[in-house]
Amino acid sequence: MLNMRYRNLCSTSFSFLLIPANVRLRRCFCFMIIDGKSIAQNLRSSLRIKVEEYKKHGMRVPTLRVILVGDNPASLSYVNGKLKAAAEIGIDSRLLHLSSDCSESELLLLIEKLNQNTDIDGILVQLPLPSHINEQKLLRSINPQKDVDGFHPENVAKLWLGESCIKPCTPLGILALLDNCNIEIEGKEAVIVGRSNIVGKPLAKMLLDRNATVTIAHSHTPNLHLVTSRADILITAVGSPHLITADYVKDNAVVIDVGISRLPDGHLTGDVDFEEVKNKVSYITPVPGGVGPLTIAMLMQNTIDCYMLHNNKNTYNL
Ligand code: NAD
Repeated sequence: MLNMRYRNLCSTSFSFLLIPANVRLRRCFCFMIIDGKSIAQNLRSSLRIKVEEYKKHGMRVPTLRVILVGDNPASLSYVNGKLKAAAEIGIDSRLLHLSSDCSESELLLLIEKLNQNTDIDGILVQLPLPSHINEQKLLRSINPQKDVDGFHPENVAKLWLGESCIKPCTPLGILALLDNCNIEIEGKEAVIVGRSNIVGKPLAKMLLDRNATVTIAHSHTPNLHLVTSRADILITAVGSPHLITADYVKDNAVVIDVGISRLPDGHLTGDVDFEEVKNKVSYITPVPGGVGPLTIAMLMQNTIDCYMLHNNKNTYNL
């Protein structure tokens, strides 16, 4: 009975403890792994159909330019993932790869050219940048209507004022995961661990907009486990492997793990001790294969939103 209900909830893969039939109705013994890869794949497929429609109507395809400075292997891998997704959807994307010793003014000039080019819809600067380049100055130089990451101060301000804007991809992806699984947000206690500008802070605003009661915890939060164990929805974005153990989590909570860390053996892991925590929760995301694929899918969505803006069609991803 319960299995059926979960099957109907969303199209993600799921997993249950093998338990005797007579205790199957005890909800606390069930958990569901949210399959970010499949959800992202579905989103990308619907975006590909949209782009095909534009082409059928004689419109040009959306365009994205990704600026990478230097050869940081992690950045290269992230950029390749983004370009691959764009190619799959039919977005015209190109990598503009500059050497690590390029100057700030060279980069500003490149961004200005892309800003002026009416055939370019989206500009993304892969972070982090070498220390001789002022990251904030660079992000501010991007036309806010081409700011596919949603990091420009104009977009940040509009988000907090409740106006239409381009929103950061990872928080958008987290909401997409919750919505895809029909997880109710309104009235729920949401705790976010991590207060970065790219995840924790914008996510807090976006959950507030969905009428959750939101707490942001961080590195100076005393008794973190007392705060996190209040959460109906717990989201962690720290980058500290296995910080969140079972005693940090309320029974039947929804746990979304944004953290990505590489273990000494080369494997990726999240902030959550998955094996320990999964038995307590209703839903949980794996790392890898949880939030990451949604971040890329939402970047594609944002690129199409920017494209629509340039074509004077107001379709922000609200
Ligand atoms: P960050 O690295 O800028 O900051 C980390 C945050 O964690 C800070 O706000 C800090 O206060 C908090 N913190 C540190 N130690 C803590 C502790 N012991 N207890 C509680 N809070 C603590 O944050 P970020 O850029 O949002 O990245 C966080 C993690 O999320 C990283 O692992 C990053 O790789 C990952 N990330 C993943 C995606 C994705 O798409 N999956 C996207 C963005 C970031």
